[in-house]
Amino acid sequence: MKRRITLHFPREAVHQPIAYRLAVEFDIAAKILRAQIAPNQSGTMVVELSGDIDDLAAAEQWLERQGLGLNRASGQISIDPERCVDCGICSSVCPSGALQSVAPTWQLQFDAQRCLVCEQCIPACPFEAIALVLNPS
Ligand code: SF4
Ligand code: SF4
Repeated sequence: MKRRITLHFPREAVHQPIAYRLAVEFDIAAKILRAQIAPNQSGTMVVELSGDIDDLAAAEQWLERQGLGLNRASGQISIDPERCVDCGICSSVCPSGALQSVAPTWQLQFDAQRCLVCEQCIPACPFEAIALVLNPS
């Protein structure tokens, strides 16, 4: 299964080879969707983790023991059909195939099951048709 999480790195953990350790010790593939980490500073990384459900649980516990903060997806992506003009720009930045322009009409289709909530499509839309709807807390 796949799981999208946001990792918050404290300064001490920035140099850790997280993706390597996840692969070798937990058989988890970590695909980095977005990263903002400067040397010797704290940082944030959005990753898609793929693997067995038990391995994922063990990997997440290990990440927390390393001092990293974990956040699961905090909401869902919503497309406003009144604003969308089916230009397809968002589908070109979507890493999971959740957004696709489908022939013959090339109308945009959104598959929420495939969405990783990486939020890359939100700034990509020139018509501000895409938004993150936050889960109730
Ligand atoms: S980028 Fe915006 S307007 Fe273009 S297809 Fe995507 S949601 Fe629609
Ligand atoms: S948030 Fe947008 S870009 Fe990211 S997976 Fe979902 S639809 Fe694709």
